[in-house]
Amino acid sequence: MAEILITGAAGFLGSHIADTLIADGHSVIAVDNLICSDGSNIKHLENEPKFRFVKQDISKKLEHRGALDYVLNFASPASPVDYSKHPLETLKVGSFGTYNCLELAKAKKAVFFMASTSEIYGDPELSPQPESYWGNVNSVGPRSCYDEAKRFSEAITHTYQKQGWVDTRIIRIFNTFGPRMRVMDGRAVPNFIMQALKNEPITVYGDGSQTRSFCYVDDLVEGIVRLLFSSITTPVNIGNPKEMTILQMATQIKEMLGSKSEIVFEPMPGDDPKQRKPDITKAKELLGFDPKWSLEEGLNKTIEYFRSIAS
Ligand code: UDP
Repeated sequence: MAEILITGAAGFLGSHIADTLIADGHSVIAVDNLICSDGSNIKHLENEPKFRFVKQDISKKLEHRGALDYVLNFASPASPVDYSKHPLETLKVGSFGTYNCLELAKAKKAVFFMASTSEIYGDPELSPQPESYWGNVNSVGPRSCYDEAKRFSEAITHTYQKQGWVDTRIIRIFNTFGPRMRVMDGRAVPNFIMQALKNEPITVYGDGSQTRSFCYVDDLVEGIVRLLFSSITTPVNIGNPKEMTILQMATQIKEMLGSKSEIVFEPMPGDDPKQRKPDITKAKELLGFDPKWSLEEGLNKTIEYFRSIAS
């Protein structure tokens, strides 16, 4: 069984990964500075002997006494609202933070796993997006603090791999949803569910014709675990290729909740990608990755969660 350090472990994805790895018998050291989390996602692990929490900002330092087999870097504000609120922290965690993770992995002879993102494709002119696509990214736009930090993270991870310093993995994560997303993180799914639950206006930005492809969190975690324990060192897209418009998502959530909310159209934020859909051929062929959860099943679980925290 492995010793695994996860940064950003109090976040939405980090906490689900910690749960899965602990259930599989591994030990997890969870690192987080709690900038975008109140710790509630990992509270249930408090008395778990295979779990330890360390409050630390990885862009300043990252230390660990004892052996490590894997270092997973999931630390970063990740929603457009969060990284716009914390642009410098986002740039620092995606540069100094990733460097500190790689140096720790190097010192411990551990495998390093980088959580990258579909945002590295920017506003893609090609759809679906295969890993070979270089992207269409604005380096000085509203999303650049996140996109460019993640692009730097990929570049430095690739360098450590190429130099033979660390054995690395890079995942490109597409839109994911599920329980433990923050109510106020500003993303489409939590916003729409909370608005529909309260019968408040559902805010669609632009005309809602922009597309995303939403993956339920359990499928994503399955892909993460498969990639982690593989030997693939080049980037791999993980997500659900089922594409839909944002207006379709708003309508579906409203209908599922039988909500009286009206759908209102608000100005489109700058540089909002017009389309996004992963090409997951590589993950399918090399990892046997195949998302199982339907949108409706995933939304049911997510709605159940938001209902429970709203009440
Ligand atoms: N969006 C929206 N209303 C909201 C929140 C988001 O219409 O209340 C749109 C947003 O402009 C984007 C899409 O939904 O086109 C997905 O946004 P999200 O923040 O979930 O993630 P992104 O894929 O943009 O990082």
